[in-house]
Amino acid sequence: MIELDKRAARLAQRGHPWLYRDDLKKSDLEDSEYSTGAIVRVLDPEGRDLGIAFASTRSKIALRLCGSWAGEDSPGLEEFLVDRIERAIRLREGMAPADGGVRLVHGESDLIPGLVVDRYADVLVLQATTALIDSALPLVTKILSDLLSPRMILARNDQAVRRLEKLPEEVVLLAGESVERVVIEENGIHHIVRPYAGHKTGMYLDQQPARQRVKELASAAKVLDLFSYQGGFSMAALGGGATSVQMVDQSKVALELAKETALLNHFEVPEMIRGNVFDVIRDLRNEQQFYDLVVLDPPAFCKSRREVEGGIRGYRDLNRGALRLLAPGGRLVTCSCSHHLKSELFEETIRQAALDLPFRVFVEERMGSGRDHPALLRLPETEYLKVRILRRWD
Ligand code: SAH
Repeated sequence: MIELDKRAARLAQRGHPWLYRDDLKKSDLEDSEYSTGAIVRVLDPEGRDLGIAFASTRSKIALRLCGSWAGEDSPGLEEFLVDRIERAIRLREGMAPADGGVRLVHGESDLIPGLVVDRYADVLVLQATTALIDSALPLVTKILSDLLSPRMILARNDQAVRRLEKLPEEVVLLAGESVERVVIEENGIHHIVRPYAGHKTGMYLDQQPARQRVKELASAAKVLDLFSYQGGFSMAALGGGATSVQMVDQSKVALELAKETALLNHFEVPEMIRGNVFDVIRDLRNEQQFYDLVVLDPPAFCKSRREVEGGIRGYRDLNRGALRLLAPGGRLVTCSCSHHLKSELFEETIRQAALDLPFRVFVEERMGSGRDHPALLRLPETEYLKVRILRRWD
């Protein structure tokens, strides 16, 4: 049990669900049982209940509030995890078919700080980014096995953020057989997912709504997919009846997988340009190529607050270049997954990009990640993906 002082209690009630070491009285976390993390009951100075939290002495984030819990005690780890994981899975019922892909647990948004679980058909890939969840992985594995009987549970714990909690970067098979590849179906299109080697947990599940929209907009369109990776958007465009698709990425492996994916779907293999998007945009412009639909989904340019300024320049230049490739009436699906670049700043950057163009641009749609990636209002970091559909007017 931790009793907060007045200021910290106010933060806990009103603000962000994370309390940093400096926000707390020194004595509060001295107890060594908190070192790898524990679930504690949090009270205000008058003894009123503020819910429960993950406590850690390892991280700068000392307390991660994670909702209410009936009674006065703090729950045991197992009953907490069973309750929260079952609830998270129940909330996603009907969101994806058995052979599809879906995020089952989205960390703090599901009130399980530091746990992400993605399902690709009958394969589960998880990520643990807090010391408490990391130490609880055997329990998490048991709970997920009991609930879903998956073919494999893999921990993709090869993320740099784990260093902040002094955890090693590693990929660990937690249960079942080792599955190198699994094919999922999304809106009638097959995608190849590589749990061990693919980006994130194997695929960009968060772009599912945008892929669906691209599929709808691609009918009879000439399409350009920038930073295409394995062609998530390209396959959607081909499935939607695009007349031609060009993919641009610097990764040979990604483009080879895209070719394989196209064949798997019985699509014509799109034209692939292996190179630097910044250069390719310039080349295409020199060749006077114009497109009905351009997808621009770069990697996060602002990985920290310090990188925001440089990142904005990158986004601005790319968006300007991509807008210039639009045919009249054409659309640009532009994305940013940098959570340091807030939504307003992203739009401002797009506005800057369109400033000196000889045609008008309007924002047709604002999108983000899907319903399986809910965002906790108090935790803006959970709403990181911004997708805007821009249209060239004249
Ligand atoms: N749009 C993809 C995800 C993009 S991931 C999807 O929906 O699945 C980012 C991709 O950008 C990676 O495949 C990486 O190889 C590529 N990349 C990063 N910088 C690049 C650059 N300057 N030029 C070309 N490709 C780049």
